[in-house]
Amino acid sequence: MAAKKDARFATQCIHGGLSPDPLTGAVMTPIYQTSTYAQEEPGKNKGYEYARTANPTRDALQRNLAAIEQGKHGICFSSGLAAMDNVLRLLQPGDEVLASDDLYGGSYRLLTAVFGPFGIKSRFIDMRDPAKVEQEISAETRMLWIETPTNPMLNIVDIEALTNIASAHNILSVVDNTFASPYLQQPLTMGADLVLHSATKYLGGHSDIVMGAIITSDDALAKRLYYLQNAAGAIPGPQDCFLVLRGIKTLHLRVQRACENARHIVRVLQDNDLVANVYYPGIESHPRHEVAKKQMKDFGAMISFDLKEDTLEAAARVMRNTHYFTLAESLGGVESLIGHPASMTHASVPREQRLSVGLTDSLIRLSVGVEDAEDLVKDLEKAMSN
Ligand SMILES: *Cc1c(COP(=O)(O)O)cnc(C)c1O
Repeated sequence: MAAKKDARFATQCIHGGLSPDPLTGAVMTPIYQTSTYAQEEPGKNKGYEYARTANPTRDALQRNLAAIEQGKHGICFSSGLAAMDNVLRLLQPGDEVLASDDLYGGSYRLLTAVFGPFGIKSRFIDMRDPAKVEQEISAETRMLWIETPTNPMLNIVDIEALTNIASAHNILSVVDNTFASPYLQQPLTMGADLVLHSATKYLGGHSDIVMGAIITSDDALAKRLYYLQNAAGAIPGPQDCFLVLRGIKTLHLRVQRACENARHIVRVLQDNDLVANVYYPGIESHPRHEVAKKQMKDFGAMISFDLKEDTLEAAARVMRNTHYFTLAESLGGVESLIGHPASMTHASVPREQRLSVGLTDSLIRLSVGVEDAEDLVKDLEKAMSN
């Protein structure tokens, strides 16, 4: 049965916005694999006319997404970038977006190469110091695009401090919550206007779908975004909506276990003689550890580290020799992944610029899954000793 308003997170994951199918009593949301709906007579229908506009499976997921982010409205899209595309369509030519300089590569590309030519300007700034962010706001600034933790350096920015600045200047604040997931942080409760997810990652959680979502409590923004969802049409199919609904039912269990595994691995990496630096917000010496502690329930399951032998070849040796950590892009699935940002996700960033933010040639990024920690640790140690 649908979760009550005061239900806690795990209950919301399983019951939020969901109730048995009114037609059959099916406990799990059916996959309504249809493009259109029979109408009794012209203009008379059961609330559904055409499936780009609405589909009951997607509606159930959208209600569930709203519940787990403590928002009023969930709106989902065929990918995380399609969701971002729709958020940016809230802007007008001449408007400016201030985005964090340690941004997901696809988000950077969408802002600069796709929306730039339409007259939407973007500037990329270090968001770690809120006072500096405030100084960067210009008369054209309309949106603050926040990502935390960042990829791959695991920097943390203070969500509440930045959303306070945004609302004081009448600017929309958007938080890309993909890396944390709503289990770890809920930006709407910290003043954000919009939360964005690549549901491809932790929400889906099994590396078997691509999807995006926006969650908000603002009725006017939601109305415009639903309008854009239908008008531009980048909707997810009902089967994928079902899979994300299924994924979210175990979100709290998966992320909790992945965080525990990450803690083990961080300790082992810190003790390894071949490792130069370990980047993880849970480490007390992490420069924003206190902010992470304030705004996150735990420190996540993404870890980056680099090697004393700082070469691509040294990193490649480790990545060639893992057994359970699969060399692949993406993150947030039940299985552990290993990646090399300098040659994979951040290959298009000039080397000098990469090095200036600490993204060295040997930097390795881990997305820790929910396998047994002992096996993951053994796997990494063996790969490093090769
Ligand atoms: C993957 C990702 C995206 C893009 O989402 P897609 O589902 O791949 O379109 C956006 N932001 C972050 C932080 C991501 O990791």
